[in-house]
Amino acid sequence: MGTPIRVTVWNEFRHEKNKEHPASKVYPDGMHAAIAEHLQAQPDIQVRTATLDEPEHGLTDEVIAGTDVMTWWGHAAHAEVRDEIVEKVHQRVLEGMGLICLHSAHYSKIFKKLMGSSCSLKWREVGENERLWVVEPGHPIVQGLEKEYIDLEHTEMYGERFDIPMPDRLVFISWFAGGEVFRSGCCYQRGKGRIFYFRPGHETFPIFFNPEIRQVIANAVRWAAPQPSAAITWGNVKPLEDI
Ligand code: ZN
Repeated sequence: MGTPIRVTVWNEFRHEKNKEHPASKVYPDGMHAAIAEHLQAQPDIQVRTATLDEPEHGLTDEVIAGTDVMTWWGHAAHAEVRDEIVEKVHQRVLEGMGLICLHSAHYSKIFKKLMGSSCSLKWREVGENERLWVVEPGHPIVQGLEKEYIDLEHTEMYGERFDIPMPDRLVFISWFAGGEVFRSGCCYQRGKGRIFYFRPGHETFPIFFNPEIRQVIANAVRWAAPQPSAAITWGNVKPLEDI
């Protein structure tokens, strides 16, 4: 096996630390611990975690430079993520780092910057049933799933319109018991970096312990890992041929 994919699992980690919040019961060690646990079990993946309240949000220059794929979960404190850190993560994506934005990361500074749109959506929190339909079978992100859909018994609803640019590839569409639909698995490329938005993951439901959701995230890490390619020359250049 070659060099492992170096993953940084980033989490806001605020709801889980609040003992009054249901997330502290579902994810006592934080959502990042649940996400990292499964990734760490993969022989081809090497994981570290980083959280908002660490110095530089845990995203020092060294960590960012040493990350092949970053996963991002944020919700209540998007505005507290410092712009200069967002700028560095953005630059790394353009250079080839993969980024997987989970659930309420649709409103994170980094996702909005990469999308260039409002990333607004409809939502409702009654714990209704969600069915994520695989609409791109054969895509590496759905490799190994045994059914045509993933069923989540209790979720927060996100509904269209989701104000994003048209995905390069749409892998999942969600149906909700209340009647809405949502583009739940969206692939993009920005510069040399691959981006995957994946909808499931509300903090009060044990979604990041669900084996199928975990499998999709691990698949997405492999899909988003940087692809080796030649260095790019920018700007004014001499001709390659005599002209
Ligand atoms: Zn949520």
